[in-house]
Amino acid sequence: MHEWALAEAVISSALDFSKENRLKEIKEITVALGELQQIDREVFDFALSEIMKSKGLEFRVVLRRKKSLLKCKRCNEEWSFDTGKLNEQEKESIHFIPELVHDYQGCPKCGSPDFKILKGRGVWLDSIRGD
Ligand SMILES: [Zn+2]
Repeated sequence: MHEWALAEAVISSALDFSKENRLKEIKEITVALGELQQIDREVFDFALSEIMKSKGLEFRVVLRRKKSLLKCKRCNEEWSFDTGKLNEQEKESIHFIPELVHDYQGCPKCGSPDFKILKGRGVWLDSIRGD
């Protein structure tokens, strides 16, 4: 059910933004999804459209996956999660359980599996277009 909470948060920050900036109408919002965020896209899309309907809103929602940023705790190397090296099934399981990233990838410099995820999680409002 957390898709509903995330969708709710995105819509309410869009409304806050439009109020603060005195927009008459929101035309389009871009929602960023961290590539390691565990989310069911179908449920999220459905939640967005239901929440918008219930508030009488009508605008386009663009979803964009954002690259992750990982940092090695041993040597401080920073890198992005490289999905190119994984097969489809591994990609799926990592999007589903982000912690699995540790099983599949170590630091590209020293090989340590001990790293933290700086970016790549969460859902947030990236941009808004309106009048
Ligand atoms: Zn390292």
